[in-house]
Amino acid sequence: MNRYFLAIIGGGPAGYTAAELASKAGNDVILFEQSALGGTCLNVGCIPTKSLLYGAKQYYNATHAQKYGVTAENVVFDYAAMQKRKTIVVRKLVAGIKQRLNNEHCTVVSGAAKVVSHQPSAVNIECNGETYEAENLMICTGSTNFVPPIPGIKDNPAVWDSTDALAATELPKSVIIVGGGVIGMEFATLYHELGVPVTVIEAMPTILPNLDQEVVQVLLDKYRKAGINILTGTKVEEIRPLPTSPEREEKGCQVKANGEWFEAEKVLVCVGRRANLQGLEALTELEMERGAIKVDEFCKTNLPNVYACGDVTGKIMLAHVASRQAEVAVGRMLKQIPLQRIAYNAIPSVVYTNPEIASVGLTEQQVRDFYTEMEGPDGITKAGGVEAFYEVHKLPMTFSGRFMAENEGETGLCKMIVEKRNQTIVGVHCIGNPSSEFIAAASFAVRNGYTIAEMKQVVFPHPTVSEILHEVLH
Ligand code: NAD
Repeated sequence: MNRYFLAIIGGGPAGYTAAELASKAGNDVILFEQSALGGTCLNVGCIPTKSLLYGAKQYYNATHAQKYGVTAENVVFDYAAMQKRKTIVVRKLVAGIKQRLNNEHCTVVSGAAKVVSHQPSAVNIECNGETYEAENLMICTGSTNFVPPIPGIKDNPAVWDSTDALAATELPKSVIIVGGGVIGMEFATLYHELGVPVTVIEAMPTILPNLDQEVVQVLLDKYRKAGINILTGTKVEEIRPLPTSPEREEKGCQVKANGEWFEAEKVLVCVGRRANLQGLEALTELEMERGAIKVDEFCKTNLPNVYACGDVTGKIMLAHVASRQAEVAVGRMLKQIPLQRIAYNAIPSVVYTNPEIASVGLTEQQVRDFYTEMEGPDGITKAGGVEAFYEVHKLPMTFSGRFMAENEGETGLCKMIVEKRNQTIVGVHCIGNPSSEFIAAASFAVRNGYTIAEMKQVVFPHPTVSEILHEVLH
C-alpha cells in the first residue's frame, strides 16, 4: 500500500488548489473526486451560471440598444445553444485543472472516498474497494443545496434546485424562485432577461439580507419596475401540482405563501447550502459547529493532521474563500514561514445581477450594530449617537464618466464606510456595472487598513468606472 503525504477528499477550488500547491512543493499527494474536478463552482455553480448570464445579457442588451442609438430587429436567442456553449466552457476549465494536477504528478482517483480509520499520523481511506494511507488528510467535500421541509417539495418534478435549473435545455414558461439570496437573484436575472415571468419569494424582510441594504434597494427598485414580482417577508408554506383538466393541460405547480396561492411551471428552490459530511463517519471525534466542520485560523480541525477547507467549514461559502483557505492550510501543513492568515474581514463578494453588486468588508448596518453593542444605548446617547463613530461616503456611479457613457438610464451607487476616529476604510459596497471588476481594489484597501488619506494617493486610470472609488472620497 502506497503511503502519501497528503490525501485530499474533494476536487473543488479548495481541493485542487491544495493538491497543486502541496505537489509543487515536492510531496506525494492523492486527491479523490466522486464527480468532476472543479467541484460545484466549475460544474454546477459559478462558471455555468456566469456563462448563461452572459448569453442572457447579450440578448437583453441587443433588445434594449435603442438608448445607445442602435436598433436591432428580429433578435432571437437559442437557449439550447447557450447551454451547449456553457458546457464547452466548463469542459475546457475542468480539463485545465486536470492538466495542472497532472503536471505536478498529483494522483487523482475518481470515486467516492470514505475515511476508514484515523490515528495521529496516519489516515486510511477507502475508494473503489482499494485502501490508501496518508500522513495528512484535507477534507474539501463542499456543500449541497438544502431542501427545506416544505410540504410537497420532495419528489416533485416541477421543483428544481440550482443544479436542475442549470442542466435544463429548455427555459421554463414561468418560474417561482423560493429564496431571494445570491443564487435566487442571479437566476431571477437570467430568466427575466430571457423573457420568463419571474416571482421571487423571500422569507426575510428583504432580498439579499446580508448585503448593504441601501445598495440592495437600488436593485429592488429596478427589478420591481421591470416587472419581476418580488415578495419579501413571505414564507412558502406548501407546494402542490397544478390541477389539470381537459380545458387546462399545462403542467406546473402551485405555491402557497402567506395564505395566497401562486402558479408557475417550475419552482426553483435556493434557500442555502449545507456541508457535505458523507464518508467522514469514522472521524467520530471530529468537532463540528453549526452543521459544519470546526477549524482554526489555519483550517486545522481538532484532530491531529486533519484539515478542512471550503464550504464544508461553513465559514463563507465562496470559491475564492475556499482556495485561500487551501493556501493557508497547505502553508501550515508544510510549516512554511511566515505563516499565512486569512483576512476574513476583507473577502470581496459579487452578486451577478444586472447591475452587479460588489462588496467587501462591513456594511453600514453591521457597523451600527457593532457600536451600539459596544457602547450600550446609554453610552451611544452620551457620545452623540452611533454616527459619532463612523461616516459614510457615497456617490451615484454617474459621477464616473465611463459609467455615464456605458450605462444609459442607470444611476448605480458606491458607498464607503469609514471609521471616524482613525479614518480607516472598513467597507465598500457598489451597485453598477462592472463593479465586479474593480472591487478587488477596495479589498486591497480594506485588507491593508487604508485610511482615506492613503486611498486618495492611489491613482485610478481614466476613464474607468473604478474611479468612483476615488471620487467617493471627496
Ligand atoms: P443564501 O443564504 O444566499 O440565500 C438564501 C435565501 O433564502 C435567504 O435570503 C433566506 O432568507 C431565504 N429563505 C430561506 N428559507 C426560505 C423559505 N422557506 N422561503 C423563502 N425564503 C427562504 O443562499 P443561496 O442563494 O442558496 O446560496 C448558497 C451559497 O452559495 C451562499 O453562501 C452564496 O454566497 C453562494 N453563492 C455565491 C455566488 C456568488 O458569489 N456570486 C453565487 C451563487 C451562490
